[in-house]
Amino acid sequence: MNQNIPELYGSLVFNDKVMRNKLPKDVYKALKKTMQNGTHLELDIANSVATAMKEWAVEHGATHFTHWFQPMTGITAEKHDSFLSPVGDGEVIMNFSGKELVKGEPDASSFPSGGLRATFEARGYTAWDPSSPAFLKDKTLYIPTAFCSYTGEALDKKTPLLRSMEALNHQATKLLHLMGHEEVHGVTTTIGSEQEYFLIDKALYRARKDLVFCGRTLFGAAAPKGQEMEDHYFGVLKPRVSAYMHDLDEELWKLGVPAKTKHNEVAPSQHELAPVFETANVAVDHNQLTMEMMKKVADRHNLACLIHEKPFEGINGSGKHNNWSISTDTGVNLLDPGKQPAENTEFLLFLAAVIKAVDDYADMMRVSVASAGNDHRLGANEAPPAIVSVFLGDDLTKVLDAVESGASFKEPEAIQMEIGAHVIPHFMKDNTDRNRTSPFAFTGNKFEFRMPGSSLSVAGPNVVLNTAVAESLEQFCERLAIVPAEERKEAALSLVRESIKAHKRIIFNGNGYTDEWVEEAKRRGLYNLKSLPDALPRFVAEKNIELFTKHHIFTKEEIFSRYDILLENYSKAIHVEAKTMLEMMEKDFLPSLFSYTKELAAAACNKKSLLPSLSTAAEEGILTKLTDLSDRIYLMTDTLKANTAKAESLTDVLESAKYYHEHILQKMDELRKYVDEAEALIPDSYLPYPTYDKILFSV
Ligand code: ADP
Ligand code: MG
Repeated sequence: MNQNIPELYGSLVFNDKVMRNKLPKDVYKALKKTMQNGTHLELDIANSVATAMKEWAVEHGATHFTHWFQPMTGITAEKHDSFLSPVGDGEVIMNFSGKELVKGEPDASSFPSGGLRATFEARGYTAWDPSSPAFLKDKTLYIPTAFCSYTGEALDKKTPLLRSMEALNHQATKLLHLMGHEEVHGVTTTIGSEQEYFLIDKALYRARKDLVFCGRTLFGAAAPKGQEMEDHYFGVLKPRVSAYMHDLDEELWKLGVPAKTKHNEVAPSQHELAPVFETANVAVDHNQLTMEMMKKVADRHNLACLIHEKPFEGINGSGKHNNWSISTDTGVNLLDPGKQPAENTEFLLFLAAVIKAVDDYADMMRVSVASAGNDHRLGANEAPPAIVSVFLGDDLTKVLDAVESGASFKEPEAIQMEIGAHVIPHFMKDNTDRNRTSPFAFTGNKFEFRMPGSSLSVAGPNVVLNTAVAESLEQFCERLAIVPAEERKEAALSLVRESIKAHKRIIFNGNGYTDEWVEEAKRRGLYNLKSLPDALPRFVAEKNIELFTKHHIFTKEEIFSRYDILLENYSKAIHVEAKTMLEMMEKDFLPSLFSYTKELAAAACNKKSLLPSLSTAAEEGILTKLTDLSDRIYLMTDTLKANTAKAESLTDVLESAKYYHEHILQKMDELRKYVDEAEALIPDSYLPYPTYDKILFSV
């Protein structure tokens, strides 16, 4: 099929082209102004936009509209209303007003609200976010919205993100003005989030309760082959996977999601999709859509897409690299070092601000990626450790060393790559190598935050990053504002020098996977917050509350509500896992194990009654091992059941999360060991669920 991709791209989006066609000129201008500068939109303009949106949507077959929002569940929510409006005599027209576009009133009481539940009424509001384009899906017009309580507290992920983008914009613009860049009227945060996922056969997925209920396997003996051959990463795409990826790309392109790169990842059945970066708010919305479409398209191909951080034990889990930068409205990427970084004062200022921010708020960076799923991944061999540090690379480190010591920095000469085969065209070598082990790495003209898990909304990490950097910039502004304009360049350089000296401990260019680094980090006084219950108390630490309230990102109540929700979600996730494990044991696994041992015992008896001299050593050997294991499994199942009941009685959210961490997860691990050992001794035909070798190598 020959497709015109530029025509297909964004065909389901109420984008600039459609707006220019559909809207009266003055309305278009007013809307653009709102989108670009965040200015308030008058109701008559909203009415006009609503009419155009409806016309366009109906032309494309839509019958409904929905406010689309991102509650604290981490996924999206929607409630559909038809455009239908009765006009008497049993007739209807298709109607959509500015009021309906701007504001919705979903019942907020059934969404997670943490402590806010006690203080607000059930009523909640969704409010149109004109900075993220509306789109069509399933014959419905989707309108991106923020979601707040009756009393105005944010109940979602979008609101704080927008607030943090505003805070960063404000401080960055102020700093640029102080440095003489009056031409800049605003800066935006840009994000490109690389999404990892697993693709497995749908029938096999359905056959595993743990995958269906928990998104990850709770048992499973390792397959004879894992990822040790290093043959999956960037390997040839199998036809089924390739067909899926093409279909997915097209669906995303229609929705205006700029899907760009796709490849096989390290683990068998693991893949990645990376988009071209966009404004943070749109990128976050698009990442949510990407995850949704990944699952939907998989279903069409008889596949299941797993976005959990650790679906399988013993092979890599999945993450979501958050590439982050800031650009001016004049088109300058503020983290682009340019040809002479040592002379680029603005770049150095912004770089120093980021380093300072990550050091001052390393604990919050860790909190922002905390989840039950991600705990299995951080600190394992596929993901950065739970310790936050910054990788700069040799070149940039040399620049900063020179700035710090006041020495002059000599730009390294570009080196031509020589690989010995002369037919290969010449190219220049990059100055800095890559480092895949760092949680927060400078990668040329942006930072890549590698700690977020694959299922996480990246709104959270970017709220922290934006706000922490806004705080650094504000402190820089205060220092520079009292210096006469002509001395500011010099003052900025000494500020950079001072800041680097003060925050050097967060910079680490070595291998983040080693034990030595864990020791070294401890000596440097860096946080190593291994689990969610370890990390969460930092969210409500005085300095962090001060940061978020000062920049109007969260009120104190919003912080405590989020703290509650995160802890509750953690406990709930593990609770569901424990219950799934118990059910799989009692209803499925133990009965299978008993059938097989019964069969073995009968076989041994038959042999003996036929001919007493026949050896039954093999049957007896396996029978003994399996009996021993089934006793252990039974006992551990009982302990897990008792602990789960105890956990249910705990009311303090932190105490409960700690209990789940220390007494439930740990017992689940022990139980799993016995089960996996038994699984390896039981023939597939007896097992109640498909094994790793089938699941991981069937597509
Ligand atoms: P790699 O895969 O080696 O990490 P890529 O060049 O593929 O590097 O980039 C990864 C992601 O970074 C992509 O989503 C890309 O769009 C994004 N990216 C590039 N420049 C920026 C930027 N200025 N701000 C935010 N993200 C960016
Ligand atoms: Mg990357």
